[in-house]
Amino acid sequence: MKTENFPKEIQPYIIPEQKGQMIYRCLGCGHEHGIEKLLYTCPDCGQVLLIYDNQSDRLKETPGEVWRQIFDYRKMLKIPALKGIYLYHEFIGPVIPLESVVWLGEGHTPVVEANAFMQEKAGAKFYFKNDGQNPSASFKDRGMASALSYINFLIQTGKISDVLAICASTGDTSAAAALYASYLKPNIKSAVILPHKKVTPQQLSQPLGSGASVFEIPGVFDDCMKVVENLAENYNVALLNSKNAWRILGQESYSYEIAQDFEYDMADKVIILPIGNAGNITAVMSGFLKFYETGIITTLPKIIGVQSEHANPVYLYYREPDAKNRKFTPVTVRPSVAQAAMIGNPVSMPRVILMTDIYNQKAGMQKVFFVEVAEQDIMDWELLANHNGHIACTHGGESLAGLVAARKHGFIGKNDIAVLDSTAHALKFAGFQEMYFEDKFPDEFEISPKSELMNAPTIVRPRDLEKVPGPGVPIRGEDFERFVRRTGEEIARMLDLEKV
Ligand SMILES: *Cc1c(COP(=O)(O)O)cnc(C)c1O
Ligand SMILES: [Zn+2]
Repeated sequence: MKTENFPKEIQPYIIPEQKGQMIYRCLGCGHEHGIEKLLYTCPDCGQVLLIYDNQSDRLKETPGEVWRQIFDYRKMLKIPALKGIYLYHEFIGPVIPLESVVWLGEGHTPVVEANAFMQEKAGAKFYFKNDGQNPSASFKDRGMASALSYINFLIQTGKISDVLAICASTGDTSAAAALYASYLKPNIKSAVILPHKKVTPQQLSQPLGSGASVFEIPGVFDDCMKVVENLAENYNVALLNSKNAWRILGQESYSYEIAQDFEYDMADKVIILPIGNAGNITAVMSGFLKFYETGIITTLPKIIGVQSEHANPVYLYYREPDAKNRKFTPVTVRPSVAQAAMIGNPVSMPRVILMTDIYNQKAGMQKVFFVEVAEQDIMDWELLANHNGHIACTHGGESLAGLVAARKHGFIGKNDIAVLDSTAHALKFAGFQEMYFEDKFPDEFEISPKSELMNAPTIVRPRDLEKVPGPGVPIRGEDFERFVRRTGEEIARMLDLEKV
């Protein structure tokens, strides 16, 4: 729809303007730093940063009801820059002009309700929000769209040039980074650093396909991160890991979309998501807080962060009920099917601690909870969900296992409605499904397949057939008719089909 066809009172708001005054604020010393330079940690004390808009109070001058209309009407626009995360421009990157926005199809992922069988099994009404339906098949595209739009803005305004974007990754960050960087060629080139043999073949194929320089090093993600930090400290590179606070802003769109998906009614809603480096849960809390403070939503939903027993530092930190006695200790990770969350020392831990405190305080009660789940449960729930119409990745299985655990602990009541983050597409992690189906998990995973969830193809080759077709060697005439008839009979016998 064209701007002039929108209702008169919405027209002035429908196309967002470049506004605001964004700054980096340090979570350690509280110092503020300008955004004209790319910063990842505080130059004064080395702590992580978050980005704030010092003029965000202006957003409160528009009533929540008007904001809701703005966002709903904006969905009818055909302007690419407003089709993704920047539909919420004022809340994500108001200083970025629409000409700098990079949109590759990310955002506005479907929210799919579980069928009656699954709801019965899980003990709650729930939906999957399928972030695997983003362009590089994970939620990481949300953050990359934000980070790369900002870098694009710096390039277009002559503040930086010839950027080498670099990241460490458990697989999905590098896929997203390489994709978005490749769109901005030749101004941006990208390099990714992966733990050798610790990303799936599909995830490895993604940055290779996007033309990035790909390096594999020994160790796990935490080791890659150290190498990337070393590079960022000593060389002129743009860091795209979630230390980059622009990524957090982009990932807030997940919360904004959920609010809009449910017509801004967050009463009885519970958002459940896996935690790895803890950037996503930071963003999800921050997003709901911004909408709450602006009156766009009037209730804060509950948030459940889920970790595998094999990579659970955030869970362990919050297991101590008394905040004064909590102490963060990194853990040594063990193999996990939720491989993209296999992180022992999350970069965003200080952000989670800050946001969780603010969230619970604003809600006036505890609304953020953390649970841990077994590897076995992650796989079983993923496969059961996908037997029932979903496309959940292992981390989506982790969210669902987390829902069941949270119900058991009483964090969620029976009338609560859960929205589960399936953070990537099932196909990225098909190797774990294969290990399950073939009962080939190494012992460290502690997973034994359940027969009712296993599946394997059956080879059909009737013994009495002399000739069968092969690639490049078709068979014809009677031989072919016989092949079709006998193969059909065999399949019908195995499926117990009745003749018409
Ligand atoms: C990155 C990632 C996670 C973990 O998200 P964090 O922001 O690091 O906590 C979970 N699932 C998938 C599929 C991911 O790619
Ligand atoms: Zn500082």
